[in-house]
Amino acid sequence: MRKLYIAGNWKMNTTTTEAEALVKELKVLVADMTEVDMAVAPPFVYLHKAVYLAKDSQIKVGAQNCYFESKGAFTGEIAPEMLKDVGCDFVILGHSERRHVLGETDEVINLKVKKALAAGLEVILCVGELLEEREAEQTEEVVKTQLLGGLKEISAENMAQITIAYEPVWAIGTGKTASPDQAQDVHAYIRKLLADNFSVDVANIVRIQYGGSVKPENAKELMGQPDIDGALVGGASLKADSFAAIAKAAV
Ligand code: PEP
Repeated sequence: MRKLYIAGNWKMNTTTTEAEALVKELKVLVADMTEVDMAVAPPFVYLHKAVYLAKDSQIKVGAQNCYFESKGAFTGEIAPEMLKDVGCDFVILGHSERRHVLGETDEVINLKVKKALAAGLEVILCVGELLEEREAEQTEEVVKTQLLGGLKEISAENMAQITIAYEPVWAIGTGKTASPDQAQDVHAYIRKLLADNFSVDVANIVRIQYGGSVKPENAKELMGQPDIDGALVGGASLKADSFAAIAKAAV
């Protein structure tokens, strides 16, 4: 049985004061929700404080990106080892905004996945199709390329540190959610790809989150699907009460 996993991607939002308040409020609201894993991904500059504030709670703290080198002349980049050093548990990689706004390729994402795992971080690897790709019936092809590209040369053993987030790009921040059936179909396909390319055991343990306008109102039905093991939440994770309500609705 896979434990539900709800992660909040804060993107480029919050101030110091807001970030601190959000972690503190969330800590209280989810204190007795042991049946679900909770995580937040604040901007880099608030990670250290978030780790400190989330201490002694079940809330994991992670980053929204990292680089694929450990150190050196890479102005503006952050190494996975640095994330580990400040106490991060995980990093989100391959988010659609990194792919489509910042031009990241599957090759670059794969280098980052390997480096993050080597540094001891868990990884949430995001995959998902654009609206035009869905309309052209290319969803499976796009998801397969992104999934297998991002996981190239990753061992079955390392897959225990990986969560997949299926995030149809047309549903991110748009208020449009994939229907539970649409999402379940892609999640089942991803699980089949994991079974075919790793093992049935890997397919059974890896959690697959859904992301794309998840709210307290749609969380229950989405996470009631057999292959949806949680959510990667953007907008609704910026308010502690709505983020906690998503987790409550899911259990
Ligand atoms: C996301 O950023 O990963 C996301 C799913 O955003 P939203 O929930 O706002 O659609």
